[in-house]
Amino acid sequence: MANLEYNTFAPVLVTGATGYVASWLVKRLLEAGFTVHAAVRDPSNPDKLKYLNALAESLPGNIQYFKADLLEVGSYAEAMQGCAVVFHTASPFTLNPDDPQKDLIEPAQSGTRNVLEQANKTPSVNRVVVTSSCAAIYGDNADLAGVSGGALTESDWNTSSSLSHQPYSYSKTLAEQEAWKIAKAQDRWQLVVVNPSLVMGPGINPFATSESFSLLEQFGDGTMSAGVVDFGMGAVDVRDVADAHMAAGFDPAAQGRYITSGYNSSFPEFAEILRDRFGEAYPFPKRTLSKWLVWIVGPWVSEGITRKYIARNVGLPFKADNSKGVKELGLTYRPLQTSLAEMFQQLIDSGRLSE
Ligand code: NAP
Repeated sequence: MANLEYNTFAPVLVTGATGYVASWLVKRLLEAGFTVHAAVRDPSNPDKLKYLNALAESLPGNIQYFKADLLEVGSYAEAMQGCAVVFHTASPFTLNPDDPQKDLIEPAQSGTRNVLEQANKTPSVNRVVVTSSCAAIYGDNADLAGVSGGALTESDWNTSSSLSHQPYSYSKTLAEQEAWKIAKAQDRWQLVVVNPSLVMGPGINPFATSESFSLLEQFGDGTMSAGVVDFGMGAVDVRDVADAHMAAGFDPAAQGRYITSGYNSSFPEFAEILRDRFGEAYPFPKRTLSKWLVWIVGPWVSEGITRKYIARNVGLPFKADNSKGVKELGLTYRPLQTSLAEMFQQLIDSGRLSE
């Protein structure tokens, strides 16, 4: 990792602090000795806080909880007071929303406005790190055909998602655009954006509800026993994403967006890695489904798997160029096999998956 300059006298804010990605960031901050202002929706729920509390007991930093909701204007004022750096990670991550506008777009876009406008009103803040996504860089794998050099870079934006097609990706795109608009209208604080691909690896909370967990579970619970869809995507370890946030927050040279993706991978590669490591004990998919079969049955299996989605994604590879973060921030990526094996083992150990 490049040169990180810590001033642990000032607290830092993490929005959505009990989330899958945010919990690892909170761990890194506590290790470095920070006072973490943890903004959560329900600080009165001890089950949600117990994993972060356990970290704070054994690490040099300390944690203070604040109640805040993305949809309540001014809700982050108290949590942000005195903070030098704001990590805005909170945003709903769900691929099958009932109402995409209400469940995804509003909390992502209005929530980002709410948090960043609060930064405008909080003189102590000098940097804001937004957890965006590769989903704000591209929408469908078919988009890669129009990308110069054939690999996504930080200069690409998702122009193919909408409320009715890939609404989660649309929510991340609108949210990041909102962040840049607010950041560019002022010059007191700097915006740095982390754009992870699909995040894998064990959670601080083994019962985390992020879609990352539901997805890996499906490889081992029989959902894919008939076969796996040939879907290409990037993958990155949750601990490497936390390190990228630390660099984005504290490396003086950090600027702009950072694709944070260790590997250009695919669902068939995930299945192969899991089968090699865990053998026949779980019903891992053994074959790859043909595109025409997915075309026929996909929409029956899930409302989210539309014919347009299949046409523009299945059988098409994903490729992103992660070199900006490697060169400028010294980001490194642990092996994909490690991330998948440790996360799957956690699903077994926690009882989420049984043999
Ligand atoms: P997660 O565990 O579901 O975390 C989402 C967090 O957002 C939770 O802490 C949740 O709070 C909070 N949140 C949702 N709606 C909220 C609202 N209305 N007000 C306040 N907080 C709200 O999912 P995750 O995977 O860690 O995602 C964290 C961030 O990483 C998101 O911005 C996501 O888009 C981004 N990301 C994730 C991946 C991935 O593969 N996991 C990849 C790229 C980017 P509660 O605990 O109260 O529900």
